[in-house]
Order: sequence, then structure tokens, then C-alpha cells
Amino acid sequence: MPFTDILKKYENFDFDAFCAGIAPSQVARIINNGGNRRLSDLDYLTLLSPAASTPELLELMAQRARDITSSRFGGVIQLFTPLYVSNICDNHCLYCSFAHQNKIRRRHLNLNEVRVEASRIAATGLRHILMLTGESRRAAPLGYLRDCVAVLREYFSSISVEVYPLDTSDYSELVAAGADGLTMYQEAYDRAVYASLHADGPKANFEYRLLAPERGCEAGMRSVTVGALLGLAQPLREAFFSGLHARYIMDSYPSVEVGASFPRIRPQAGEFEPNFTVNDKTFVQYMTAFRLFMPAAGITVSTRESAAFRDAVLPLGPTKMSAGVSTAVGESAGGASDAQFEIADGRSVDEMKKNLLSQGFQPVLVDWNYILCRSGFDISTSLNASLRSAADGH
Ligand code: SF4
Repeated sequence: MPFTDILKKYENFDFDAFCAGIAPSQVARIINNGGNRRLSDLDYLTLLSPAASTPELLELMAQRARDITSSRFGGVIQLFTPLYVSNICDNHCLYCSFAHQNKIRRRHLNLNEVRVEASRIAATGLRHILMLTGESRRAAPLGYLRDCVAVLREYFSSISVEVYPLDTSDYSELVAAGADGLTMYQEAYDRAVYASLHADGPKANFEYRLLAPERGCEAGMRSVTVGALLGLAQPLREAFFSGLHARYIMDSYPSVEVGASFPRIRPQAGEFEPNFTVNDKTFVQYMTAFRLFMPAAGITVSTRESAAFRDAVLPLGPTKMSAGVSTAVGESAGGASDAQFEIADGRSVDEMKKNLLSQGFQPVLVDWNYILCRSGFDISTSLNASLRSAADGH
């Protein structure tokens, strides 16, 4: 059963009526979760609901999320940085600076330029990288993506890709070239909103994008991260479907390391105004609810969030954070392009490392999973299985 079936199951669900019937005692019972049972879809929705947003219940949920995160992940935060290799895009997403219609400075790195950028980033000590492109098969065909991954493999122990959705066989080629992680944001799980924001271009195909994480898993990606861009559609539903998507992948592909992120829309070129605002309190509610729903999943908090906010939420769930970020193409390789969006936390890798250590967290720059896996021991499978087993109380 593909994830589309789960989405369909809840698409006509009356979220308002369900949320209106939730009592505070019900929320508290789910947070306390006697017996550490696996939370159901509707337990998760209860934690996301307005009924769970009182100061007392939020504090209770934060404490529980802190305990789970600390016991599962032990204060370890993996650092990575994004590398944009091309900002040419054939899509018209209204909320993104890279959209085809925007008159911005475009760049498309050749392999030598990718090498220059890779060398600069590797000098910071980072060994985990996220390679991104605008979505243009024409400008960045599969062969180009594969060649970029092969160059990055010379510098990094773990390479994730955030590129246009691909067929399973295409993902297999990227895996063979050295990619081991896939990030694919659905942007909006609400079909009508998705259609209104992506009226043109290949991204108009909602289902092809929705099922891309599954194809990545089939192709052998070791880790997959999903989520929605908060602000585009009704946030509670988007947070709910993001969690269900992550849970579905974890259940369907037990050897895959699953993560989610809750990126909030940031200022960008163009005149797009988000339909919804997600304030800090609601962000924390969504993130901690997800931690309770999926105790063993990764959570990424990116530089869309401010330094002060990222520091404040550190104990509550994140396992991965970006550092030394630029959303432009070609910073070192002869003049940058315009950026995709404004970042809110401009700290360097060194600054992030020092900051994490000063707060009692351990910054991890090398993806040890991959290295051990390459030596023949599939620690990813072993770790995920044991974490899940413990999380489910089995
Ligand atoms: S969000 Fe992605 S697909 Fe849409 S315009 Fe930006 S880069 Fe292109």
C-alpha cells in the first residue's frame, strides 16, 4: 500500500470536529503514555491540536520530548551543510526565489567548480553534505547529478541529495555513485493548495513527488527525510501528514533511517505572502509532538530558524542541524548567484561546534553510520531495529 492510500484515508477527515472534541485530560494521558505504547495516528493529531497548546500541556510535552531525545540520541547533533550546485529551475513555485519566472542571477557549477566548493566545505571538517539543485532535468540531467555525487564522494563520507523527483532506477544510479540520503519535501500535502502553487512545470505532478521517498528507499537510500513547507497550507494538517509520511516510511522500509523537518517559509524573491503563519510556540508543539509520535526518528532544524531559537529547542528533539549555510550557488567558485531564501542563522561550522559543546551537546561531523556500513556491517539496520523495538516497548 503506497502512502497515497494513507493520505486518501484522512483527506476528507473532519479535523475541526475531531479537535473540538479533545479534552485536556486526554492530551495529558497521551503525553504521559503509560507503558510507552506506540502512539496512534489520532494520538499524534491530539498532540498537534489546539487543545494541547496550553502552557501546562506544552511544558509537559516538552519535558517528555526532552527525556525521549536524551535517552535515544544522547545529546548528539549531526552537523551538515547544503551545497547548491545549480539554481536553474523549470518550475514556477510561487514561494521560491529560484522559480523560473524570477529574474535572478543563475549559476550552474561545472565539475571543477563543484570540486572547489567541496574542498572549501571539507576544510571545515564536515563530512556530511546535502547536495541541492533547482528542479531542471534539462539543465541538471541525471548524468550531471551522478557526476556531482561522484566528485563529492572524494570529500565526504555521506552525501544526501535534494533534487527533483526521480524514478527508482535513477535513484539507484545516484546510490551507485555514492549518494546515501534523500531529502524530499512535499511542500504541501494539501492537493488543492499544492495545485495552486505548482500550476505549471514538472512539479505539478503531486503524486510523482509524493511517492519519491518510497522510490528512494527501493533504490537503496540509507536515509530519507520528508516534510512540508509550513506556511503554504493549513499547518496542523501539514504537520500531521508529515508525521504520517515519516511513520509510513519507517514501517515500510525498516532498514532506512527516517527523518522529518518542519521548515517554516522564509522571505524570498517575488511577492508571495504565506497563507499561514506558524509561530515559535506552535513550531515547538509540532516538533515535540512528532518526537513523541516517532521516538527514533531524526529531526532536522535548519538555518531557516534563528540562532536563538535553534539554541532554545536543542534539547527538545533535533538530531541534525545545518551550519555554515549559503543558499546561493558557487560562493567559492567564482562569484555567487542570488540565494534561494534568506537564512536566519549564519553561524559557521566552528561557531556551531563551539556553541553545541558549550551547551553540553556533542557535535558530530562525520557520518559514522556510512563508514561502518561500507566496512560490511549494516549498523543502520541493527540500530534502527533496536531503537524501534525499544520505542515500541517490544
Ligand atoms: S522550490 Fe524547488 S522546484 Fe520550486 S522553484 Fe524553488 S528550486 Fe524550483
